[in-house]
Amino acid sequence: MADKDCLFCKISNGEIPSATIYEDNDFRVILDIAPASKGHALIIPKEHFQDIFDIDALTAGKLFSLATEVARAMKAVLHCDGMNIVQNNGLIAGQTVFHFHLHLIPRYEGDGVNLGWPQHEADAEANQELAREIRKRI
Ligand code: 5GP
Ligand code: ZN
Repeated sequence: MADKDCLFCKISNGEIPSATIYEDNDFRVILDIAPASKGHALIIPKEHFQDIFDIDALTAGKLFSLATEVARAMKAVLHCDGMNIVQNNGLIAGQTVFHFHLHLIPRYEGDGVNLGWPQHEADAEANQELAREIRKRI
């Protein structure tokens, strides 16, 4: 269901123009208006899902399948050295547009893009317990 106030609903249905690199019944793929690097693209489902906790598995599967094709096309054109796939969920995780989207961020030597995070040593026993807890819910 489209949300009348949602930017990505309007972009994905064509109401707001975008640099579109692919479109079908389910998805629109656009270039980001403020790219982290040259060719930074967003895959947007046309249906309004807020985030990973909201999107259905079938749409998410189709979306990632499309991502493999888009990534290869981008690599062929952009000659990037690598690519980050990023998908933010929630304000705390950096989500600013609350309509699910997948970032494809081409990486180039010396591009200055920084997607790192500090790492901590895990307690092996606590990790096993946590894995058990989560596993029960899948
Ligand atoms: P988020 O921070 O939610 O993961 O990502 C939102 C992305 O949407 C940002 O990278 C931002 O630059 C991009 N964006 C926001 N508004 C527009 C717009 O009007 N057009 C396009 N093409 N990208 C947008
Ligand atoms: Zn939306």
